[in-house]
Amino acid sequence: MKTHGPHDATGSRRTVAVDPRRPFAVALGITLVLLAVEAVGGWLTGSLALLADAGHLLADAGTLGIGFVGSWIASRPATAKMSYGYRRAEILAAVTNGVALWAVAGAILYEAVQRFRVLHPVSAPGMLIVALVGLAGNLANSAVLARDRGENLNLRVALTHTLADAAAAVGTIAASFVILTTGWVQADAAVSIGIAALILAGSWPPLHEAVRILMEGAPAHLSLTEVEVAMRGVPGVTGVHDLHIWSLTAGVEAVSGHVLVADPGEGQRVLRDLCRLLSDRYGLGHATLQLETEASSDPWHPNCAPGARTGSDR
Ligand SMILES: [Zn+2]
Ligand SMILES: [Zn+2]
Repeated sequence: MKTHGPHDATGSRRTVAVDPRRPFAVALGITLVLLAVEAVGGWLTGSLALLADAGHLLADAGTLGIGFVGSWIASRPATAKMSYGYRRAEILAAVTNGVALWAVAGAILYEAVQRFRVLHPVSAPGMLIVALVGLAGNLANSAVLARDRGENLNLRVALTHTLADAAAAVGTIAASFVILTTGWVQADAAVSIGIAALILAGSWPPLHEAVRILMEGAPAHLSLTEVEVAMRGVPGVTGVHDLHIWSLTAGVEAVSGHVLVADPGEGQRVLRDLCRLLSDRYGLGHATLQLETEASSDPWHPNCAPGARTGSDR
């Protein structure tokens, strides 16, 4: 018997009330202006740190642009062909962003190593001014994104980036002071390596979460074992197996499983209790549960055959 939970996919909990496209659009505008300022500034002053930050901002503009389009695609309704809707578009966008950032970091590291080998002149006063403008822009960007981030993965991705950018701008400011006071021009390349490290570090947590979702892994805040134990605690349930909890997208979870019931006549009551438990205690509104009795455990479904169970019935 296959039964659907009390809510359909569109009724699942979502803590983001605001349209995530608005902060993306504002942040994208600020980022494009900063990108132009830092690219021209990096070219005029010869500073790799500024060019690195411009490269970072280029990746961020891509992040925000993809996030903007991803959120728009994700908001489209489900269809007969795409029954889950398009919410995973956000996850695909997050993976693309993460990989793009790795490419940018690699390019910066390569150029920084070159500049340690062959000294490159840098205009420290100009570098300082551009870095100060960059810092102001990054802080404005962070404020816009932090206000509305909620559970939206791409907004969190973007916020992580802008915070890393702010740290990078501080590093660039410090490097220009070092060059101004000591003349050690390699400070510029050294800070660039730090910026590349920040890019890599910042890209990891959101990428890890996106890959977890694509691999159908259980959400970090839910324990599969704990949910299974709670389900077994419902009166009339004698076993639970083939239990899966996964995320359709960040913050939208689904659950499926096979439940052994002692008395088939109690099936509907047990099912209602289970759906309530999953929804109320664990926020799992999208539940698909298959009720079974010992007699129905036939070889037609190998996972249900006696002696070949996937769960704790084994
Ligand atoms: Zn950035
Ligand atoms: Zn089964």
